Amino acid sequence: MALNTVFPEVHNFLSKPTQLFIGGQWVDAVSKQTFEVENPATQQVIAHVAKGDAADVDLAVDAANKAFKTWRYEIPATRARLLFKLADLVEKHTEELAQILTLDNGKPLLYSRHECGAAAHILRHFAGFATKVEGRQVPVSGAPNGAFLNYTLRDPVGVCGLIVPWNFPLTMCIWKLAPAMAVGCTAILKPAEQTPLIAVRLMQLFEEAGFPAGVVNLVTGMGIDVGQPLSAHMNVNKVAFTGSTMVGKAIAQQATSNMKRVTLELGGKSPNIILPDADLSKAIPGAAQAIFYNQGQVCTAGSRLYVHEKVLDEVLDGLCKQAQGMKIANGLDEASTMGPLVSERQYDRVNRYIEQALADGAELLTGGKRPEGFDKGYYLEPTIFLDREEKACISKEEIFGPVLTVMSWSDTDELVERANNSIYGLAAGIWTQDLSQAHRIAAQLEAGSVWVNCYNVVDPVSPFGGYKQSGWGREMSHDVIEAYTETKNVCVNLY
Ligand code: NAP
Ligand code: MG
Repeated sequence: MALNTVFPEVHNFLSKPTQLFIGGQWVDAVSKQTFEVENPATQQVIAHVAKGDAADVDLAVDAANKAFKTWRYEIPATRARLLFKLADLVEKHTEELAQILTLDNGKPLLYSRHECGAAAHILRHFAGFATKVEGRQVPVSGAPNGAFLNYTLRDPVGVCGLIVPWNFPLTMCIWKLAPAMAVGCTAILKPAEQTPLIAVRLMQLFEEAGFPAGVVNLVTGMGIDVGQPLSAHMNVNKVAFTGSTMVGKAIAQQATSNMKRVTLELGGKSPNIILPDADLSKAIPGAAQAIFYNQGQVCTAGSRLYVHEKVLDEVLDGLCKQAQGMKIANGLDEASTMGPLVSERQYDRVNRYIEQALADGAELLTGGKRPEGFDKGYYLEPTIFLDREEKACISKEEIFGPVLTVMSWSDTDELVERANNSIYGLAAGIWTQDLSQAHRIAAQLEAGSVWVNCYNVVDPVSPFGGYKQSGWGREMSHDVIEAYTETKNVCVNLY
């Protein structure tokens, strides 16, 4: 296998145990402990990372509160300039950052580069917002016009705890940090224990861009040691979380300590729907990409595919070819389109679902096992099941791996009911050339994002979040500015 050579600067970065970033200083954890970080393609330990706990969270929260006193009043154009500078640095270091992402998470370099490009784009988008956080002016309704000046201000919510998962280790940080910084909040970032490295490198870039000390802080460590005290902390004003619904529920409870603001981006089991008139030359690769992208470790993954019975055979045939055509390889191989799953735990979890699907009577059409020729790494073949009765547990539960469940349908009303029959409501896809039908179905689906003749088109202009147990609130777009600000009404008697 012709693997890309890892850059000397990446070797150098990995060679020393990383530290926490608190109040503009690089420091060891108070406990002096570290934990190991593994490359899921080789199962080798590639780095040691500071293992923070509640004592470090306290220090970081103090630093963020201190910095908030001045950062909240920083000239908006200055905050914008710093974010633009950070975007330039992310872009400049793309190849290096992409290697770190691939080594830590396993995803193909191609997609690691996309993640860096998306990070720079999102930073610039929210840099623009720094100078456009507006209130509104409304006349008092019970008084003559002109008697009062009545207006709203949007204040930064304060110190934010940002807890992110391992599937998009860079963009998940940026989705939260960019709007928080733009509006004048300060932050403590807690990356996932499986993929902390890019967050460490990102803090170095924040420092290089010139953000003041304490505005952004990093505490690496375990969810229970760092995420839990952060979301329960009395001096944190908001927590923004992406991850599992189970942890999301725990965070919502922990946050009631001081009634901090909470936004949650949680799991999904998203329906992707193929109508009989769909252009299958687009729908088939689109449906394959919707589930197999990022090894299926995507909260919006189109994991329930509903295919109209008239085109079922053709779609199944095409999907199996797509799955078998994927190039499974170490992400450092330029040809790779599918790397390993992120961890042994995730690999075991997905394999348990495959076993359960077989026990439940689902028909395995392709995949379902470790690809040949791999004796190390958490590799799994792209897997497709047909579940005629829609009874298997894989048709209901989030797997978070490269496992697609296909079901057929014939009646549109019944289809919508089945698509909505989920505890989740994050996303949905519709493939058809009948746009009236597409809009009618889109209007009835219980999902935060609906894609028609495309999938996973995630853009900073579009609000992103879920119905039902897929979360609370929205990220991206204008909506996220509200999530990082408080509204204040000021009413002035002019007479
Ligand atoms: P997870 O436990 O929800 O982890 C997400 C983040 O929350 C991590 O930083 C984690 O820390 C932290 N955390 C864990 N317990 C916490 C607590 N009590 N309080 C505060 N923070 C806490 O996700 P996972 O265990 O890695 O994955 C399990 C399943 O979650 C996956 O199989 C998938 O179904 C789902 N998931 C969803 C998304 C998504 O984008 N919606 C992303 C990842 C996973 P650690 O460093 O200890 O993990
Ligand atoms: Mg976890």
